Amino acid sequence: IFGEERKNSKGLNMNIISESEPFFAALDKFKDTTWNAGPLVNGELLSGETNEVVSPYDTTQVVGKLAFANNQAIEQALTGADAAFSGWCNTPVEVRANALQKLADLLEENREELIALCTREAGKSIQDGIDEVREAVDFCRYYAVQAKKMMAQPELLPGPTGELNELFLQGRGIFVCISPWNFPLAIFLGQVAAALAAGNTVVAKPAEQTSIVGFRAVQLAHQAGIPKDVLQFLPGTGATVGAAITSDERIAGVCFTGSTGTAKLINRTLANREGAIIPLIAETGGQNAMVVDSTSQPEQVVNDVVASSFTSAGQRCSALRVLFLQEDIADRVLEVLKGAMDELSIGNPSSIKTDVGPVIDAMAKANLNAHIDHIKQVGTLLKQLELPAGTDKGHFVAPTAVEIDSIKVLEKEHFGPILHVIRYKASELAKVIDEINSTGFGLTLGIHSRNEGHALKIASKVNVGNVYINRNQIGAVVGVQPFGGQGLSGTGPKAGGPHYLTRFITEKTRTNNI
Ligand code: GLU
Repeated sequence: IFGEERKNSKGLNMNIISESEPFFAALDKFKDTTWNAGPLVNGELLSGETNEVVSPYDTTQVVGKLAFANNQAIEQALTGADAAFSGWCNTPVEVRANALQKLADLLEENREELIALCTREAGKSIQDGIDEVREAVDFCRYYAVQAKKMMAQPELLPGPTGELNELFLQGRGIFVCISPWNFPLAIFLGQVAAALAAGNTVVAKPAEQTSIVGFRAVQLAHQAGIPKDVLQFLPGTGATVGAAITSDERIAGVCFTGSTGTAKLINRTLANREGAIIPLIAETGGQNAMVVDSTSQPEQVVNDVVASSFTSAGQRCSALRVLFLQEDIADRVLEVLKGAMDELSIGNPSSIKTDVGPVIDAMAKANLNAHIDHIKQVGTLLKQLELPAGTDKGHFVAPTAVEIDSIKVLEKEHFGPILHVIRYKASELAKVIDEINSTGFGLTLGIHSRNEGHALKIASKVNVGNVYINRNQIGAVVGVQPFGGQGLSGTGPKAGGPHYLTRFITEKTRTNNI
């Protein structure tokens, strides 16, 4: 369906033994591996203050060692990326694209190591790990093709006889890419691949919780032919590395995925620093709703609610947080939902049987549990699963569903396996739409209805970036559901969509009267 030039990556069919057996055998090889990671500046692994990285599912398990970038590493990385810009920007787009295609191949060749890292460092389930590598591969291939389409030839513009007018697209300079821990490979590489394809050099700062995945991705990118000074890697905290690189006057743009608060902080930093006015591409949080009317099929609704709320332990910015159920169907849906939640298997993310793994760290666990305690007082507890034995070694939060009266009692996004449910009457639909819009967020919306006109009407009135009708609302696919929101959810443009590269690019016209 994507034509000759690009195909999305293939999945794995676990029901076919000849596919699953070699996969698990290869994965098993990385079960005790420990990695040594740190800043990669002009390709050199630098030392620095070193931390032990432990697994969020069992904090006695060591994943590796990570050195944070110090001031000297930051300065060297920025100087290197600055000096490399002119050469990379003037490298033919085909060459840049070929390196990204090669990177996609290398990601596939190293799939099992990357999945092992996603499960061990980020606590992702195996299915999430498989999807993560696929999405990273798709981003590399998509932006490679897109850059060639947009940038290979200048656009010819009209003019008087004898005058040649052309419009060129080119890279802007150093792009700072700051990525989140919940998609440590896909979003990390999505940002980097877009910036590189467009002809920018990159200084990438991964989330501090998941830097080893990013480190391996950068090593593979260098192996694929991205010059070592063109892609610099600086692990560290937002307060140190993030603040230093976003306030540097040499940078030409920032691509950030994370919280709305941090996006605003970066915006202020960019405004206050010396130097040019530069773009910020921010993809932030959501207070995502699903609206279910009485024509819906309860089993299908529950299937999609469970997938949307509890996959990745609810740690997706697309995840469902607030389920609006029309009262005529609510009791039946909730009964089926409670039964379906009982079927969720919680535990070690490295086991294929696990549906819900840990949350990322102790602070996330404490905040989510505090919210559960609070919301149980404000609303009515519908279901809270028991955490199985052994999960106290890691950062586990029990999947929970609570009925509340209004979305307004949720003052912010709660990034974990917590579902809030609100009943509404058919006559109150306009109020439901207003409530959803009143949060100011606008990322994903789910709708369940067998009345298409009704579903389309709701879709047109809720201000969000991604609407999903009669299916779950997570797992946007590159080139199929370009992903990103509006309002408090981000600036756009949408990742994995045809307009994403535009904000990484600057335009130049050339009028030639020779
Ligand atoms: N693109 C992901 C999805 O559709 C979510 C990305 C995020 O959590 O930042 O589920």
